[in-house]
Amino acid sequence: MSDTKPDPIAQMEKIVSLCKRRGFIYPSSEIYGGCGGVWDYGPLGAELKRNLREAWWRAMTRDREDILGLDACILMNPAIWKASGHVDTFADMMRECSLTNKRVRADHVEAQAGTVMQFTGARAANGWSISRQITVLMKQGEHIESFRKRVRALIGQNAGAAAGKAEEIELLGEQKIEVVTASVDFHPESCGLLGESRPFNLMLRTYLGPTATEADVTYLRPETAQAIFAQFKNVFDSSRVKVPFGICQIGKAFRNEVTPKNFTFRSREFEQMELEFFIKPDEAVEIISGEVAKWTDGADLSEPQPNWGWEMWHQYWVAERKKFYQSIGLGDVLKDYWQTKDDLAHYARACVDILCEFPFGTEELEGIAARGEFDLSQHQKHSGKTQEVFDEDLKNAAAKLTPEQKEALIQKRLAAENSKVKGEPMPEADVRAWFERLFKGNYVPHVIEPSAGLDRMALAVIAKAFDETVKIDDKGKSETITVLRFHPRVAPIKCGVFPLLKNKPELVAKAREVYALLKPHMNCFYDETASIGRRYARQDEAGTPFGVTIDFDTLGEKPELLNTVTVRERDSNAQHRISISDLLGWLQARL
Ligand code: ATP
Repeated sequence: MSDTKPDPIAQMEKIVSLCKRRGFIYPSSEIYGGCGGVWDYGPLGAELKRNLREAWWRAMTRDREDILGLDACILMNPAIWKASGHVDTFADMMRECSLTNKRVRADHVEAQAGTVMQFTGARAANGWSISRQITVLMKQGEHIESFRKRVRALIGQNAGAAAGKAEEIELLGEQKIEVVTASVDFHPESCGLLGESRPFNLMLRTYLGPTATEADVTYLRPETAQAIFAQFKNVFDSSRVKVPFGICQIGKAFRNEVTPKNFTFRSREFEQMELEFFIKPDEAVEIISGEVAKWTDGADLSEPQPNWGWEMWHQYWVAERKKFYQSIGLGDVLKDYWQTKDDLAHYARACVDILCEFPFGTEELEGIAARGEFDLSQHQKHSGKTQEVFDEDLKNAAAKLTPEQKEALIQKRLAAENSKVKGEPMPEADVRAWFERLFKGNYVPHVIEPSAGLDRMALAVIAKAFDETVKIDDKGKSETITVLRFHPRVAPIKCGVFPLLKNKPELVAKAREVYALLKPHMNCFYDETASIGRRYARQDEAGTPFGVTIDFDTLGEKPELLNTVTVRERDSNAQHRISISDLLGWLQARL
């Protein structure tokens, strides 16, 4: 594997071009000029995504007894988005370029250096004119004539046909205002002055119903989580589960991102894989178990325990999710960032961002938040339908508490409410009413939410797998070969099957037989064209971990090798002679 650190921009360009060339990812609607922030997955990308989706689904629900799956719709009653806070607060602060009206996320503007230039207006020979102040940054090192040409072009583009030819636009009243060394007030592309920050709601609006009036407005879901909360009671009542348990879901989400960027990393349509893991409030754990386990570094997280409160459960899920990333080959490119008290939303108790090293920087792959009872309580309040569960064990344990013990629990909670740094403390009367319900065995479950993005995961896996090697052919010519070193578990094609020569019907027939043997069990690719080295290289580029070659020995040229094949491993180039009857088991053990 190459050991020098590649140039990140060149690396990303190579990845984007490989993705298109080999059918992993294409720009959406490309023949019509694309569709900003939307990407389609080609044949190899679709397989890769499916493998990741299945690995997540298996780890989160099939392999466990305490998590159930859900498949809810993208469209929901808009009241859900009001209750969740998305209608009022799901916004990014954005700024608009005064020259081109292009928007940019306020926190995505990089500092620029140059000279601030101002014009009093512009006019064209055909009579078209504008008479407003135009402020643009002339970038450090930009020649004044190129700068003027650029401004004319931008004004021309914005004015459309009315202004005539851009090069004939006359700029009026040019002035140098000041030299800046690190200003974040200019658009990253146009360098036009940016307006004030304004909130911009990221939800995509649509209409549900035939009249298409404001009364029919709803939203494409910006996250899958809310459907889980909205269906919490149905799942709970229909599945004979007890808290703690989880509900998970995979599905599309949509956000009208102000600045989609970094390939699929920030898209407007993407897929999320979310778990809502419902737990008892700590007070209920304390009543039932007599104590709440305290988190200490290195505490045993291997088996969930009845005395775990939110903190242990949160730590457990962080550890579980890291194990998952390890299992798909991403373990060594991950870091975690524990949000500070200032970063946290008022209802959140803790949130960890699992970060991944992408060529363009270290960025969030997944967030794991301890969200308290906020979500279910909001839906209880807005829908008027109880989201409480009844817990017999809790009721029985609470019945054994003395009035003093009960009062001590209440006092502890009141003290915690009064020392809250963010959000309003719960009034004493509400605290007492809450405990009254709790002592009878009723509570709204709290939640731990690991929320991952499938597209970001696919991009992380592709970026991690991307490698280049230089090969020298028989004639001494060097060639750079791209290899995608996918973990076999996620690789889109598991095995290439190659007859040594395509013009030998016996070889072809045997290779087809091997292909038919493997195909029902894994995604295989049959290839008989070009030299065997070229065929290996094609599969290396697709990230296929194994290649099976059928040669004359397979047909019995050396009798002791009859019905054996050569299996080549992508990463080590090691070759193994394996009997066809053992082949499927050999491969399956390595996938
Ligand atoms: P960011 O800060 O990067 O915008 P976020 O904190 O808003 O992300 P969440 O709302 O926590 O993200 O969503 C959970 C996960 O969904 C993210 O960790 C990410 O993997 C994925 N995700 C969110 N927004 C996008 C997007 N626009 N494109 C692709 N994936 C996304």
